[in-house]
Amino acid sequence: MNYPKRNLSAVYYSVICLAMICLFSAAARAQMKMHVINVGQAEAVLLEFPRHAVLIDAGGEDTFETAVQNRFRRHLLEYLDAFFARRNDLNQTLYSVVVSHPHKDHTKNLRAVFERYTVKHFIEGGGSINASGMDDVRAIRNIVAEKNIAHHRIYARDVKRPSFMRDWSAELLRDSQTEAKFLSAGRRCNDDNNASLVLRVAYQGKSFLFVGDAEIDDKEGRKLGCGGLLSRLLVEEVSFPELVDVDVLKVGHHGSKNGTSKAFLEKVTPQFAVLSAGVPATRSSGRGRFFHAWNFGHPNEIAVKLLEEHTIKTRSTLNVTTMTKPRILIENRPIDKAIYCTCWDGDLVFTVSAAGNLEAPETSN
Ligand SMILES: [Zn+2]
Ligand SMILES: [Zn+2]
Repeated sequence: MNYPKRNLSAVYYSVICLAMICLFSAAARAQMKMHVINVGQAEAVLLEFPRHAVLIDAGGEDTFETAVQNRFRRHLLEYLDAFFARRNDLNQTLYSVVVSHPHKDHTKNLRAVFERYTVKHFIEGGGSINASGMDDVRAIRNIVAEKNIAHHRIYARDVKRPSFMRDWSAELLRDSQTEAKFLSAGRRCNDDNNASLVLRVAYQGKSFLFVGDAEIDDKEGRKLGCGGLLSRLLVEEVSFPELVDVDVLKVGHHGSKNGTSKAFLEKVTPQFAVLSAGVPATRSSGRGRFFHAWNFGHPNEIAVKLLEEHTIKTRSTLNVTTMTKPRILIENRPIDKAIYCTCWDGDLVFTVSAAGNLEAPETSN
């Protein structure tokens, strides 16, 4: 068949465009991204790999204000919808949903996530009966049983076993060139923060550490029977000292004073530190009335100061708000170390390129 010449060049042009689009999208997918989604005084982190997506926690600010709760839920779901629209190769499928621990600020929107997307693995560490998010975890246990989703209830005593989560991590390594390793898991603590799942992820030589709401060792924690998980990571039987030396630290416990210590940061030596917390200056809604950053005093000035001393990279100077206890706001305080917070920066996206370059994150504020 003889094609007219003009049509032929249109065909060539289309083929070249298609090839370029394929090349660009393949390059975009040969990356790892860490999305810290702004869900207020709560936490939700999406990890994007070349062929997988993993969600760590699906929290949302938990106040008496329904409009605020709805706003953060809507934002989380819109963010995930936009993500899956861009990554249509993933077919709306999360390889795993990991619950760091059963507190409401980490579980509030779990059900909405499971109702909307396909999930292959549900990973949790159990928790105390009355934990604030345990009703959400129980609801998900029912869903995973009904839908035959793989359910992993993991404990700290098992993490050093060679067979521990082997198939799960092998698939990430094989298909997404990503190393993923749990350094700690459920510990049957009365203080569920210290039973947080601790996950280390590495892609092209760049590493990330997620410690949930793990706390330092203090009298309060010891009274509750489990001691500080951060200290245990360094020195006790769950220790992997070389593995806590990472490039990006997802800072523990929303920047609470008890979520960061000098000894821990000296081992971690982060290039970047990132916090998920609410905006503490929500004074219009009545100080102390609600379950928000003002109430908790996050991010705490002492924790931020420690992070400034130990975070290696810098950022252009930003005026931020921190808090000291009892509930004193420190406003317009400049920082120039690479410390990021959803409370200052909105949504945050860190990217590791296929060549292993890790740049400062993109921020939505
Ligand atoms: Zn929390
Ligand atoms: Zn917690």
